[in-house]
Amino acid sequence: MLDLKVTNGNVFIPGAGFFKTEVGVKDGKIVMLGDKLPEAARTVDAGGKTVAPGAIDPHIHLGIFNDFALECESETRAALAGGVTTVGVFMGGGESYLPQLGALIDIVEKKSSVDLFFHLSIFTEAQMAEMEEYYRTFGVTSFKFYMAGVRGVFPGVTDGFIYEGFRKVAAMGDRATACVHCEDQSLLDIAFDKVCRETPNGTLCDWANAHPNMAEEEAIMRACYLAQKAGNRLYIVHISTKEGADRFAGICRDRTCRAFGETTSAYLSVDKNDQIGLVAKMLPPLRSGADVDGLWERVKDDTIYTFGTDNVSMNRAIKQAEKGMLGAMPGYPILQTHLSAILTEGYHKRGVPLETILTKATANPARVFGIYPQKGTIAAGSDADLVIFDLDRERTVKSDELFSYGDFSLYEGKVLKGWPEVVIKGGRVAYEGGKIAIEPGAGSYLRRTL
Ligand SMILES: [Zn+2]
Repeated sequence: MLDLKVTNGNVFIPGAGFFKTEVGVKDGKIVMLGDKLPEAARTVDAGGKTVAPGAIDPHIHLGIFNDFALECESETRAALAGGVTTVGVFMGGGESYLPQLGALIDIVEKKSSVDLFFHLSIFTEAQMAEMEEYYRTFGVTSFKFYMAGVRGVFPGVTDGFIYEGFRKVAAMGDRATACVHCEDQSLLDIAFDKVCRETPNGTLCDWANAHPNMAEEEAIMRACYLAQKAGNRLYIVHISTKEGADRFAGICRDRTCRAFGETTSAYLSVDKNDQIGLVAKMLPPLRSGADVDGLWERVKDDTIYTFGTDNVSMNRAIKQAEKGMLGAMPGYPILQTHLSAILTEGYHKRGVPLETILTKATANPARVFGIYPQKGTIAAGSDADLVIFDLDRERTVKSDELFSYGDFSLYEGKVLKGWPEVVIKGGRVAYEGGKIAIEPGAGSYLRRTL
């Protein structure tokens, strides 16, 4: 007997299409697809709706401005309710990760409601020397390099340092990945100083002006060049500009560069003129409407390979938007609205095919980060992480109804169309009827292999 089966669904299998099939689950895994599957302890009737693999958000942050354990518990519940069943968490800091990561993995196993893997930021020679050890000890296969830092918090690293790091990633093999924050520091510095002189009490638009589009475009060129020379797999995080995405499209046409591009749900759905104001301050900043349109064009032509969130959870007390453009903290909680925002902007408003959207939210991030086909598809042997979507459901976003501890949303008061109705995680119904039905710790840490 099966543990669970999903019947009456329009089942999306990335790379193959939509199928009217039942999905059978046993011991947390998908074990069979087909008509008239055997009896199951629990049957979930999808009512003709879309059944997709659980989404993978490859780009979030936890524990930056608040306790890691607290955020690991609340924010993974927000993820789950948003249809995200696996997250990739970027960790930073200048110290060795060897003494820290074991304790963090223990917290994940106790607190997380979704499966979780780490990417480690590399800032120092000492960390770079330990990259293979991070893999052997913790199963980490992706590393991040910042071409520009966060002013007052940490500096970026040089091209020489990045090249050496890329060579290490290349030496680790085809399944290891270097992630890069692409902005040129010197171009940012000039623009930032000018904005500070002219509009120190600036708006979201001024914040965007302090981070010119060309700084991203130029850095993308440089990162791709260095990766081509080093021979590593490259993943460009949070592409936010039309110029950056267009430049990347040109580079990708020349197939010698193994590079993948990510954008985020925020850059696809909110622009710098939004009434929300400085609570939407972010790094890189929200851009213009033309950038939003430009990014969608690059989603459609597959230049953009994955969708992430760059979620940085916080509440208004941490955000301190009242301190103005320079004093406010960068970031926003966005996990629970990730897929709904993309469905609203892409599928409903722009007619982007559903399979394009779902593939970039499921199979593609799983492939880049070495967890496919365990994650990111619906096939016998894959983990039973499934989302039943009501694509036509409209819901007005109210942050106090979301599971994040954050008390604001980029979509506050706006209607988003397309929401998860049921989320199945590891073969169990984990979210249903607006309520979470699993306990913290139901998620696991994902150790990856090269
Ligand atoms: Zn980030």
